[in-house]
Amino acid sequence: MPKITLTDVTKRWGNFYAVDHLNLEIKDNAFVTLLGPSGCGKTTTLRMIAGLETPTSGRIVIGDTVVFDSEMGINIPPNKRKVGFLFQNYALWPNMTVYQNVSFGLANIKEKMPVVSFEARTAQRICELVGDWKKIIEITKDCFDKKGNLNNDKLYLRLIDTYTISMYTAKKIAGYRLNLVADPQAESQKVISEMKQIIESEKALAQKKGCTLNENFEYVKNGEVVYAVRKLSKEEIDLSVRRVSRIVKIGMFMDRYPAELSGGQQQRVAIARTLAPEPSVLFMDEPLSNLDAKLRLEMRSELQRLHLDTGSTFVYVTHDQMEAMTLATAICLIDNGVLQQYDAPLTVYGRPNNTFVADFVGNPSINFAEATGSQNGDDLTLKVWKDYDFTFTPIEKINIGEWQQQDALHDVELENARAELLKDKRNVEKGNKDVKFKCHIAKLDETEIEDEKEITDNDFILGIRPETVKITPNGKIQGEVYSAMPTGMETTVRIKIGEFLITGVIFGGITYQLGQKVNVDLEGKVILFSQKSGRFITTGTVK
Ligand code: ATP
Repeated sequence: MPKITLTDVTKRWGNFYAVDHLNLEIKDNAFVTLLGPSGCGKTTTLRMIAGLETPTSGRIVIGDTVVFDSEMGINIPPNKRKVGFLFQNYALWPNMTVYQNVSFGLANIKEKMPVVSFEARTAQRICELVGDWKKIIEITKDCFDKKGNLNNDKLYLRLIDTYTISMYTAKKIAGYRLNLVADPQAESQKVISEMKQIIESEKALAQKKGCTLNENFEYVKNGEVVYAVRKLSKEEIDLSVRRVSRIVKIGMFMDRYPAELSGGQQQRVAIARTLAPEPSVLFMDEPLSNLDAKLRLEMRSELQRLHLDTGSTFVYVTHDQMEAMTLATAICLIDNGVLQQYDAPLTVYGRPNNTFVADFVGNPSINFAEATGSQNGDDLTLKVWKDYDFTFTPIEKINIGEWQQQDALHDVELENARAELLKDKRNVEKGNKDVKFKCHIAKLDETEIEDEKEITDNDFILGIRPETVKITPNGKIQGEVYSAMPTGMETTVRIKIGEFLITGVIFGGITYQLGQKVNVDLEGKVILFSQKSGRFITTGTVK
């Protein structure tokens, strides 16, 4: 399945940059989530890749095809990009059955496709199936009801699911009644020889037209498969409908109308409808946001399976960081139209590029603490929460002074690049300015307005994930339980340390009393950020 490459893709309305020079490579067969706060440009990005929105500038390539290039004046319409969409408001057609809903789009497809002898193809498939007559009899036996009557619908579905065949083929196979005839083996041989005759006569027909049939029963002329602009045959449509219905498990209610289905079932029908034309890329914009929490969880795991089963590239928009973390092979986190980080979920969580990213992913949110100090050998000596002296040991050796020089240089480079861009008349000054993310340092009294102090190279931010906060009798930090919310499996505890508040997640069903004095330790990795730029410096442990 194709990879997608975005180069300097920009969308602006006037001086408002919805997407600002986005560079992104979505690997084939990836499951990428576009994540970010409301209005950050996720949907716009998705719509541009899909062809529903025209970028102001840039280049988009899907597989080997340049689908958009502002310089070359290329803009391939969405219906030619072989992509599927699934939106939040999937609106099934209420007056159509599930089957009609899923097949509707397929019936309208008219494009260049190989010319096929369907008769020969079906005959070949029937040969293979009746050769397996013992299993067919077994399946048939399973489909009798308590009164001893054969449930034909059940039998068709079982055959379709077992052999990936169309309803037409399933009905034919069932029609041979292999379970009733005296000698099923002889009967299957008879069917096979009939089918072989059909194949031979189809081959003869092709020959009359100067062609041969290849192993897929496609017409071949002068060594090349013959193509023609055509619609899908009824059998092809049925095969596609059955294939996707099996994947999303809606085979049993094909004849029902949407009103007769639950929300989750309707959602599955919508997914089947999108998957039926076999899109090589599937775009989804918050497709689960209408579902209740339990169903969302269920559908998430189904989407993960679907991704595996279809082998398609999935691009998924969400503002729900939990959904992004659990589903994606890579998260693309955007803020104010600017890419903040594009990495695997656990990298985004454990090594966030900056304080904005650190804050956006993770529930409960990361704790931020101001830390002042400097490097001392390999370690840093930091004053945290006013009263505590921390020794921060980086996981990998780092020279903080050098890092800070590089960081400052990076800012200059960014400014220069922006100035360079503005020389081109097609770019304008960005109206929606990029402002530095301000970390929220949780305090008991947040009404107090603090003076803006000058930030120096000695000012850092520590990012402390809630799971590193441990309540232990030997803990060196003195705290007091401010609030405790047990869920059964874990307890989210807010702890007062001096005038500050930090949040910890303690596993197990421990009950804490509000106001209870506790000793706290930080176990595991904490993250060091520059307070000046907000950028990630390193991870390390603290004592
Ligand atoms: P949400 O999570 O709320 O759906 P989003 O990240 O998907 O947000 P977009 O829909 O991509 O955000 O919109 C990005 C920004 O572009 C928003 O601030 C929006 O107001 C603006 N925008 C979108 N469409 C237009 C338009 N046609 N004209 C002007 N501004 C627009």
